[in-house]
Amino acid sequence: MEMNSANVEAVVKQVLESMLDKKIPSQSAPAASQAIPKTAHVAMLTSLEHYDVKEFPIPEVGDGDILVKVEGCGICGTDAHEFKKDPFGLIPVALGHEGTGEIVKMGKNVKFDSAGKPLKVGDKVVTCMIFKDDPEIEMFDLNKKNIGGADVYGLLPDDDIHLNGWFSDYIFIREGSSVFNVSDLDLDSRILIEPCAVLVHAVERAKTTGILRFNSRVVVQGCGPIGLICIAVLRTMGIENIVAVDGNPQRLEFAKKMGADKSVNFMDYKGIENLSAAVKDAFGGHLADFAFQCTGSPAAHSNIYKFIRNGGGLCELGFFINGGDATINPHFDLCSKEITLVGSWVYTLRDYATTFDFLKRAQAIGLPMKELITHRFPLEEINEAHRTNLAQKGLKIAIVNK
Ligand SMILES: [Zn+2]
Repeated sequence: MEMNSANVEAVVKQVLESMLDKKIPSQSAPAASQAIPKTAHVAMLTSLEHYDVKEFPIPEVGDGDILVKVEGCGICGTDAHEFKKDPFGLIPVALGHEGTGEIVKMGKNVKFDSAGKPLKVGDKVVTCMIFKDDPEIEMFDLNKKNIGGADVYGLLPDDDIHLNGWFSDYIFIREGSSVFNVSDLDLDSRILIEPCAVLVHAVERAKTTGILRFNSRVVVQGCGPIGLICIAVLRTMGIENIVAVDGNPQRLEFAKKMGADKSVNFMDYKGIENLSAAVKDAFGGHLADFAFQCTGSPAAHSNIYKFIRNGGGLCELGFFINGGDATINPHFDLCSKEITLVGSWVYTLRDYATTFDFLKRAQAIGLPMKELITHRFPLEEINEAHRTNLAQKGLKIAIVNK
């Protein structure tokens, strides 16, 4: 009896040990989840012109949530305005909406992205907007409105989760957000998706006029990131006769690399008549069929009508913030010329998906998109990154995590 119970004990011990041996690796399983830290670092704008990198616990990932390890995020004009003036009254806020990263954990209900592409741990993603108040916005309806007014990560009021912006090392994507699998794009391209979507949308708006065609003569006024990307989008759709207008010689040089045929430096011309004559010269004696206004300057808006032929078109997309009133002469600028004018604001979900293809096409025809990112800073140097951006020392400034 005693021998028997001793044997039983040994057998049980053996069985338990073998069970434990088998359990240990399965419990520790996915390497990715093992690497997830307990806390995330989030750059919070805590006062005007000042970020603090704060540490917050990473919340439990629910069935519809996605935890993303952030790789990088571009600094947008909107971030610059928040940094300087907090016009949205969001302080303290986790900013950064031009971000991208890798899925490290996701809930069991997450299976596909907003375009129907499968999602898995390890995929590279970007977010677009959060649907909660407007389920009407759908992916493949061309006529749907843009996302103005919808919530986006990087411009959310602070809450209990805190991991709400892309200037961070982890971001917590909640159920109901739009997410796209962009694993087939490199990091620089992914950082440029959001600003590029603005231009894909603007060109779609321009196309509604029926005036923008192959061989159209097109003026792009303003050669900051928005104007430069505008030129790139036009080039990828087969428009080659582009004149860039700006006051900065380096930017005009870049505009040519991006595909502008000619450039006009407005600093070289006194008065709008001389300037419009220079634009006309650049087109070989013709005014433009179509113009894109990509600056936030009211004077630039007033001037651009003078570059456009009778019956031509204009897309105004430069005023992301209220830059004040612009004066035009409705008789000369609009009526007698029969100008067709469209405004453009952010993008639709569909434009977002179109942008992924645009970036591949731009790369395929050799446009130097990556050179748009002129400065890269680690998260800890986010204040310095914003100061560099405000000083207009480069084009696109990005936070890139190690
Ligand atoms: Zn932006």
